Amino acid sequence: MIYADNAATTKMSEAAIQAMVSAMSEVYGNPSSLYGIGQKAREALEKARGEIADIIGADPKEIYFTSGGSEADNQALRSAAELGKKSGKMHIVSTAFEHHAILHTLQKLEKEGFEVSYLDVHENGIVLPEEVAAAIREDSCLVTVMYANNEIGTIQPIREIGAICRERGVLFHTDAVQALGHIPVNVEDDNIDMLSSSAHKFHGPKGVGFLYARKGIRLSNLIEGGAQERGKRAGTENVPGILSMAAALKEAVSKMDANAVFLSGIRDRLIDGLLGIPHSALNGDRVKRLPGNVNFCFEGIEGESLLLLLDDKGIQASSGSACTSGSLDPSHVLLAIGRVHDVAHGSLRLSIDEGITEADADYIIRSVSEVVEYLRGFSPIWRDLMAGKKDFILF
Ligand SMILES: *Cc1c(COP(=O)(O)O)cnc(C)c1O
Repeated sequence: MIYADNAATTKMSEAAIQAMVSAMSEVYGNPSSLYGIGQKAREALEKARGEIADIIGADPKEIYFTSGGSEADNQALRSAAELGKKSGKMHIVSTAFEHHAILHTLQKLEKEGFEVSYLDVHENGIVLPEEVAAAIREDSCLVTVMYANNEIGTIQPIREIGAICRERGVLFHTDAVQALGHIPVNVEDDNIDMLSSSAHKFHGPKGVGFLYARKGIRLSNLIEGGAQERGKRAGTENVPGILSMAAALKEAVSKMDANAVFLSGIRDRLIDGLLGIPHSALNGDRVKRLPGNVNFCFEGIEGESLLLLLDDKGIQASSGSACTSGSLDPSHVLLAIGRVHDVAHGSLRLSIDEGITEADADYIIRSVSEVVEYLRGFSPIWRDLMAGKKDFILF
């Protein structure tokens, strides 16, 4: 079995499992309790907060634990909107290919009277800093641009965008869920005011993540209750999850450079191999992409059938994001980079981790080639293309 859907979720690392198991059996107190076992949990929690803060270049007081990336995204946007509303700034700058945790929150804010400018991400899936600069207005309260896209893996010029936002005095948030633990991320160097992250995308557990918010930014609560997380996120802390997340992140970052070299080698091998399939195309910039991301379109086929047949061959991949599978709509990310509906339907995302081998990559290339050819064999669209009744879009 080859698991190639790490952008959807990753397998927990041994270190993360160990940290979770030992936290469950040994650090079971409530961090808000004053007796020994409670204080032991508090100490472990604050140690994890410090380790995570260190890794991203933040102060521990700037880290707020959440239930994951979606919650962190929601809280960041709601907080910026609340602050904007108070000062009469109701304009937000974002992009067309954000994760749905961002896009759906923005849609809600639009219903509440906010105006959102969605920047073009161009054919290569990368936002231009000068277009961010041009979109910022007097009444802009927030710019939110993801660090790396979850479907096509393209890495955005975050540092440049952050510098522009700082110069113009606009809050800058980035959804770094796909980036942290995979490529270097530092809130100081990158001029980031708020950042979202999620443990299960870097070999940690599901259901835990964090929001970084620079000192002085007043967060709004999504969840009311106790005074946990400096009063900004109520609920007894998920101590096992948080300790496990810290262990996973430390390990991911310590192996990051070596993994990036290895994975980008395998990634490029996959890209070169799959480009050998006629009428196929790589989605997103070839160079400025995550080390583990490969995303293709194959003309004349359905992505869903491709996935099912690959599963039969022991290859687990996806056609885009886990959130859009099961719906018949083509990926908003592929549409945003200009793929037309027909072509966007025939997409394949392979997101690999360091467990993969060169032999696995070759097996994937062989299997995808066979399955694409097989599916084209009885595709009416392919028949029309071959008969010249329709023009090829991909060459
Ligand atoms: C997975 C993901 C999220 C959501 O994180 P959860 O922890 O699953 O809520 C948000 N943004 C991006 C880019 C993601 O890949």
